[in-house]
This record gives sequence, structure tokens and C-alpha cells, in this order.
Amino acid sequence: MSRPARTPDGPRVKAAGPVAFGLDGLDALIAKLSESGYEVKGPVSRGGAVVPGSISGVDDLPAGVHDEQSPGSYRLTQGDDGRLFAWAVGPGSWKGEFFPAHQDVWRARVSDETIEFTEAVGEAAPLAIVGARPCEVRALEVLDRVLKEGTYRDPRYADRREAAFVAVVECASPASTCFCTSMGTGPGIEEGFDLALTEIDDEGGHRFVVRVGSDDGSEMLDGVPSVAADADDLEARARVLGGAAATMGRHLQTEGLAGLLARNMDHPRWSDVGERCLSCGNCTLVCPTCFCSDVHDTTDISGESSRARAWSSCFDLDHSYLHGGAVRASSSSRYRQWMTHKLSTWWDQFDTSGCVGCGRCVTWCPVGIDITEEAASIAASDGATRVSLPSTRGGS
Ligand code: SF4
Ligand code: SF4
Repeated sequence: MSRPARTPDGPRVKAAGPVAFGLDGLDALIAKLSESGYEVKGPVSRGGAVVPGSISGVDDLPAGVHDEQSPGSYRLTQGDDGRLFAWAVGPGSWKGEFFPAHQDVWRARVSDETIEFTEAVGEAAPLAIVGARPCEVRALEVLDRVLKEGTYRDPRYADRREAAFVAVVECASPASTCFCTSMGTGPGIEEGFDLALTEIDDEGGHRFVVRVGSDDGSEMLDGVPSVAADADDLEARARVLGGAAATMGRHLQTEGLAGLLARNMDHPRWSDVGERCLSCGNCTLVCPTCFCSDVHDTTDISGESSRARAWSSCFDLDHSYLHGGAVRASSSSRYRQWMTHKLSTWWDQFDTSGCVGCGRCVTWCPVGIDITEEAASIAASDGATRVSLPSTRGGS
């Protein structure tokens, strides 16, 4: 799987300066991506949430849709402003497009004395994303460290990721659960995209300031109706980003956080959060960087066998099963594993934070457990009284 060839014989196009276009320009960009062989996806309003979906033009984007998010609560509202990206991230991240929740690995048929294996997944069209948020691009880069650049490269993930075209839309409307400014992952973005759009709706009109991040981005803009962005456009972009940063809902103190958690593995807050946590696994399913998976083999009486990979969660009891029982039998030990991995040991493994501050785990936790609040509580009582966490093996 590779990016569609657009200039097979010509030189690569040099990246251009910022431009501005209206809805007609965005519509033309989506059409050009599709004509170039991409499967184009973007945010759509479906089932009461903004989620990734197929788009064929601006009419498919969530015009006038806004959201209200708080711990354990998410709801969309409909405005008449016509803005397409006036919402914060919903439950579905772009992770699922590259690392599906369920993916067949192979199928096999036993007949007479032979076993015939077939690849379960065919070649798919390369993906173009229009409307990923900066924190989501950063999340994909975190996943890249694990699934593309690490010791155990997943060829399907890597191929689809390398073939993808990413048009990011900077964030103007963070939710009360967002904290990307703390993680350095938003609301703006300077690299890691083909095109970066900022939606502006002011006295100058409803338009997008568009910056180019790659030759493919520059080439894709060719022929799309646009004008050079002027000083007013660039000032308007700065105002949008400044406003978003100023209204960020939450804050996480990251300085010294990895060490703080590492030396507080027996902090009483883990027992406290264990009392509230349902071990439902929602936080891991919505998190754009969680990458745990499990493998399931199935055989039926007709002789068909298959192997599939499916997302797994460190909140599953079986996830930590070793001979004799689960190592992390309590909710407190499972939450501690999840949070300390995100914010502490991920640095040891992948030299990056495992959290990008998207806030999904806060919004989609049914009991409203807030990772920023848990971290702040431990920071406020660093080194507090040690307790033992219950476990089938008598330890934590
Ligand atoms: S841990 Fe929570 S806030 Fe951080 S990336 Fe995952 S879902 Fe987003
Ligand atoms: S922290 Fe919340 S979302 Fe995560 S497993 Fe516990 S109850 Fe479920």
C-alpha cells in the first residue's frame, strides 16, 4: 500500500506559504483527495457523537455541531453558526483506522492432508484524514513508536500509516476535559502533517488558513481555489489558538511527574481510586495511544480456522494472568498500572509520554475518574502512608 502517484514523471512540488480558502476550497480538496485514489475520512456526527467516518464533501462534516463534555458526560448541541470544527475530540480516535479494534490475521482450511493458509486482509486504498486534531496526530506518533518504529513492527499498521495523508485542523474549541497545553500537543501544530488548517469565522468571513507540511500537501493544494493568506488571516489564526489555550479545561503538572509516580507505587490514592473504578476498560478503549491487543484462534467443525487480533485492556482480569492467577487482581492495581504506564514508564519504554491530553478517558469514564485529578492528589501528598493493594498473590 503506498500513496497514490500524482506526479509520476515530474519533480516533487516545493512546499508553499500559507493560503486561505473557503468552504469551496475545502470541498475541492476533499474531491481531489478522492480523485487521487485516497479513501477520505473525516469527523461526522453519528449516534450522538463526533466520530471518524467516510466523507465525500463538506456537507458530510458536522456543521454547527458543538459539544459539552465533563467527567462522565458528553453531549452534542446544534448551533446555527455553520462552523465545521467547533467541537473537541469524541469517543472514536483515528487509532482505529490504523490499528483496528478487531482484525483477522489469517484464515486456514484443512482438507485431506493439506492446510491452506490465506491472508485475511486484502489491500485497502490509502487513507486521507481531513480534520484530525493536533493531539490526535501526536497520538499517532506515539503509536508509531510502538507499532512502526519499535522492535516489533506491525507491517499492516506501518504500511497504512506511511501511505496516509493527514490534513489536521487546529483546535479552537477545547472541552472542559482537555489538557493538551500541559502535554505540549495542542491546540496548534507545527509538524507531522501534510496540511494544517485553522478554521476562522470572523468579520473577514468563514474561511480556513492552510499551511503546508509536506510536498504531498503542497501538491494536493494545486488547483484548489485559494488565495495567499494575508496578515489578517495569520493574526486571526493566532487569536483562535490563543483563545483555545486560554479556555483549556484542565491542567496536568508534568514536571517531575514520571518520578513522582514511580516513587509512590504504594500511595493510598491507588486504593481510593480503586474504590471508584469499575474496571470497565472504557478509558483504554477511547484512549488514542493504548495499544494492547490479544490474539484469538477459532476453529469450527467444517475445517475452517482463523486467527484474529483484538484490542485488549489492562483493566481486564485476564490481561495480567500468569500461571496461578492474575497479577493485578484489584481495580486499584489495574488503574495504577494504566496510569503509571501512561505518565511514567512509557518514558522508559518509548522516550515519550503515553498521554497526549485529549481528555477522552475523563469524559468517557462512567464514574468520572480524572487522570489529572489523580495525579494532582498524589503530588499533593507525595510519599504518603504506604498501603497494601489486594491481589490474588497477596501483593500489588
Ligand atoms: S490517557 Fe486519557 S487524556 Fe491521555 S491520551 Fe489517553 S485518553 Fe487522552
Ligand atoms: S478509570 Fe473509569 S473508564 Fe477506566 S476502567 Fe475505571 S471506571 Fe472504567
